[in-house]
Amino acid sequence: MDNFTFKYYKEIFQTALANNYQIITLKEFFLDEFDSQKKVFINRIDVDIKIERLRDIYKIFTELKIRASIYLRLHASNYNLLSISNILIIQKLKSMGCEISLHTELEDVGEYCNLNKNNLLKQQIDLFELLIGDKVYGTASHGDRTPYNNLNFWDKNKPSDFGLVYEAYDKRLWNNCRYVSDSEWTKWKSYDNGKLLENDRRTPIEHMLDDSPSCFHLLTHPESWYYEYIYE
Ligand SMILES: [Zn+2]
Repeated sequence: MDNFTFKYYKEIFQTALANNYQIITLKEFFLDEFDSQKKVFINRIDVDIKIERLRDIYKIFTELKIRASIYLRLHASNYNLLSISNILIIQKLKSMGCEISLHTELEDVGEYCNLNKNNLLKQQIDLFELLIGDKVYGTASHGDRTPYNNLNFWDKNKPSDFGLVYEAYDKRLWNNCRYVSDSEWTKWKSYDNGKLLENDRRTPIEHMLDDSPSCFHLLTHPESWYYEYIYE
């Protein structure tokens, strides 16, 4: 049975640590701030919907002394980055070394609101840096059930044009890692060096134990994870 409990979530990272992975952020990956002699586990979290579950993730990360890159939306219809409880959890995650950055939806906002997407990204980086009080090193594109693909923005633009070091799907990482994601909510999906592993529903733990990839990239979404029941 697929297991998306927080108990299992914790076991993913325990397995990584027990198998000598260094768990790093995307910023650290793209700035080469890691030990290249050791296996890397790049830990990415996209907060699409349930930002409050970051509190449960924070507890696990504190116990294991690990960190992640966490991407937050400015345009989520169901969370407010400036609510006091959200400011508090963001402060805690920052203080433990997490990278807090922007989950972009540039094609969606640009197309629906008829706004210039390049200006939008510049404004969003400034706004996000002001809100979070930290520099934005890179962004991650959000995927949604709209007719637009937010990644298309990067067909015509480079992160460096916006003072960024990376976009999370940059080829340097994408083409050189085992990427496993919970994007299908109740099923795992994986790519190896940029190629979809068809019908491969192995869990992150199985990927690590079976193949021990030297560069492992995990994407999770807080809303996929729960204690007993997904809508708890
Ligand atoms: Zn997303």
